[in-house]
Amino acid sequence: MARINRNFLKLQGSYLFSEVANRVKQYQQMHPDKEIIRLGIGDVTLPLVPAVTDALQAAVREMGHAETFRGYAPEQGYEFLRETIALHDFKEHGCEISADEIFVSDGAKCDCGNIQEIFDEASIVAVCDPVYPVYVDTNVMAGRTGKYDKALGKYERIVYMPCTKENHFVPEFPETVPDLIYLCFPNNPTGEAITKEQLQAWVDYANVHESVILYDAAYEAYISSDAPHSIYECEGAKTCAIELRSFSKKAGFTGVRLGFAVVPRELERDGVSLRDLWMRRQGTKYNGTPYIVQRAGEAVYSAQGKREIEEQIAFYMRNAKTILAGLKEAGYEAYGGVDSPYIWLKTPRNLSSWEFFDVLLNEAGIVGTPGSGFGPSGEGYFRLTAFGTYENTKKAMEKIRQL
Ligand code: PLP
Repeated sequence: MARINRNFLKLQGSYLFSEVANRVKQYQQMHPDKEIIRLGIGDVTLPLVPAVTDALQAAVREMGHAETFRGYAPEQGYEFLRETIALHDFKEHGCEISADEIFVSDGAKCDCGNIQEIFDEASIVAVCDPVYPVYVDTNVMAGRTGKYDKALGKYERIVYMPCTKENHFVPEFPETVPDLIYLCFPNNPTGEAITKEQLQAWVDYANVHESVILYDAAYEAYISSDAPHSIYECEGAKTCAIELRSFSKKAGFTGVRLGFAVVPRELERDGVSLRDLWMRRQGTKYNGTPYIVQRAGEAVYSAQGKREIEEQIAFYMRNAKTILAGLKEAGYEAYGGVDSPYIWLKTPRNLSSWEFFDVLLNEAGIVGTPGSGFGPSGEGYFRLTAFGTYENTKKAMEKIRQL
C-alpha cells in the first residue's frame, strides 16, 4: 500500500489569506455600497515595461524560425543572462560572483522551497520571525520539524529568531546553533533592511559554526539606503552563503516567472561542493526557464530597461513614503517602507493583529495583512503594502488619520 508523506499533514494550511478573504467578503455583503481599499496586496500592479515586452516579442519571433528556434534550455540558464547578472548585480556592486555560480530559475519561491533538498534531513533550521512562510513550510514537508504547537504558533525543532522593534527587526544569534539560517533582507513583512555590519556579523557566525546562510534578497531592488544589496558584499560570504533573487518585485515578473540562485564555488560542506549538488538537482528535477523569459530578463539590465524599471520602483516607493508619512502623522509607530514596498506598523491600543484588521476594515474600508500571520513575533503588528494606486494610497491615509 502506498503511504503518504505524513509531514504534509503537519502543515497549517493557508489560513492567513483565506481568513482575510472571508472577512472582506462578509464586510462586502453587509456593506455592498462601501468602497474597499486594498493595501494588503503582495503582488505588483504595474504592467511589464516596454523594454521587457519588446524583448519577449523578439524572442517569440526567434522561436518561430528554424534558424533561431531553441529547444530545452540549459539547466543552469543561458550564458547571456548569467553573464549579464554577474556583471550588473554583482561585479558593479564589488562582488566577485561569476556566471558559473549563478543558476537561473522560475522564481525565488521555488528556490527558497527547494534549496533545503541538498542538506541533511536532520539539519536544525533557523528563521527570522516574522517572515515569508515558505522557508518553514518546505522544511516541515521535508520532515525537519516536529508538530505545530497552536498555542505558541510554532513548529517544534524550528529555531525562531524574533525580529521586533526592540532589536530593530534584525535577529540576534540564537541559543541553539542552527545548521541552516534563512535570512531575508529587506524583509517581508517588516520591510526593514539589515546593515552591512550586522550582515557581516552573521557571515562570521556562519563561518565559525559551519552553518549555511540562505539569503533571500527578493526585495534588493527597493533598497534606497546604504544597506547591502547582496550578502557577497560581506567578506567570507562565499564560504557560507547561498543567495536567492527574484525578478518578480524588481521588474514585474510575478506572472512571467524568473529568478536565480547563487551557489559559490567555494561553498563546501562534508567535503562536497554545494554547487555540484545544486547542479545535480537542476539536472534531474528542473525543466529550465523558457528562452523567451530569459531574454526578457536580460532586457531588464539594458539602459532602457533600467530606466523604465527605476520609474516603476519610484512609483511604488512614492506610495510607501505616503503610507509611512501618513501613519506617523496619525500617531502610529511605523517601520520599513524605505528599502522595501512593505510598511510594518505597531497596532494601536495593544490591539491584536486581527483586532486591528477588523477596525481598519469596518471603520475605514481598508484591507491590510495581520502581522501574526507571518509568525508569532508578528502578533501586535500589521503589514501595509505599496502596490496600490497612488490615489487609493492617499485616500487610505486620509481615512486612517480620521479613525
Ligand atoms: N521571497 C520573498 C521574501 C517574497 O516575499 C516572495 C514573494 O512574495 C518571494 C520570495 C517569491 O518570489 P518569486 O515570485 O520570485 O517566486
